[in-house]
Amino acid sequence: MSISPGPSGSRIPLMFDFSSLQTLGEPAWLREKASSMGIEFDKGDIEKLGLFLACLLDANTRANLTAVTDHDKAWDRHVLDSLSLLAVLADLPEGASVIDVGTGGGLPGLPLAICAPHLKFTLLDATAKKIAFLDATISRLGLTNCTTLTARAEVAAHDIGTRADAKGITKREGAKREQFDAVVARAVGALKVLAEITVPFAKIGGTIALIKGAKAPQEIEEAQPVLHELKCVVDTIVPTPTGQIVVLGKRVATPRLFPRAEKVNSKKSKR
Ligand code: SAM
Repeated sequence: MSISPGPSGSRIPLMFDFSSLQTLGEPAWLREKASSMGIEFDKGDIEKLGLFLACLLDANTRANLTAVTDHDKAWDRHVLDSLSLLAVLADLPEGASVIDVGTGGGLPGLPLAICAPHLKFTLLDATAKKIAFLDATISRLGLTNCTTLTARAEVAAHDIGTRADAKGITKREGAKREQFDAVVARAVGALKVLAEITVPFAKIGGTIALIKGAKAPQEIEEAQPVLHELKCVVDTIVPTPTGQIVVLGKRVATPRLFPRAEKVNSKKSKR
C-alpha cells in the first residue's frame, strides 16, 4: 500500500486520500440552531466543517469511526455537540493549548479547531488508524492549529519531556503532563475513569471540559472519591441541547500516582 507523511509525521495510508472530496452541504436549520447556542460562524467555517464531515463519512465506509451516518444527525451530534464546548473555552487567550483525549474521528477537537483558529489543538487517541485518518483530514482542510498524537492517555499524561540545556538554562521539551490550558473529551468512559486520564494533562489553573449525557449528576456522585484523590473540583455543569458539559477545575498539581496503569481503569476495576 502507498503511504505519505502526515502533519504529525505518521504515515497516511492512501485509504485516507480525500483530495477529490467536496464539502457536505449544510442543513437548513444549522445556523439558527447554532445561533441559539451562542455560536456564530466565521466565513469559511461551515464549508470546512462540511468537508470534515465528508472526510469522516467517507472514511467510515472503510474504518470504524462513527455510528452516525445520517447527514443531518452528523451535523447535530458531531458538529454542534462538539461546538457546545466553545462557550466553556471562550475565555482562553490567543495561542492557548487544548488537548482532546480519546478524539476518535476528531470529536470534539476537529470542529473546535476549525471554529477556534486562535487556539492550538492536540488530538490524542490510542488507535493509530484513527490518527492516520485525522492526519489526512487535517491536511485536506489545511488546518495549521492542530497536531495529533498516537498514545494511550495513561502513558502520555506521565510524559514530563526530556531535559534540554541551552545557555545554562535547563528546560523540558515535549512534555505532555500539566502542559495544556484546557482538556476536552467526549464518549471516552464514565467520569470516574475519564477524570483520571484527563486532569493530569491540564496546567494548574487549567480547565477540563467533558461532554456528558443525562447521567452526568450520577457520574459526578460516583466520581467523588477519585476527584478528591485527583485534588480537583467540579466547577460547573453546563446544560446543552445535546447533553451536559461537566467542567472540572484544577487548582493544584495532580498527585504523581495519577493516572494509574491501564489495568486499574479496566472494566473489571472495583473502583
Ligand atoms: N471522542 C470521540 C467521539 O466523541 O466520537 C471518540 C469516542 S470513541 C467511543 C472512544 C475513543 O477513545 C476511541 O477512539 C479510543 O481509541 C479512545 N480511547 C479510549 N481509551 C483511551 C485511552 N486510555 N487513551 C487514548 N485513547 C483512548
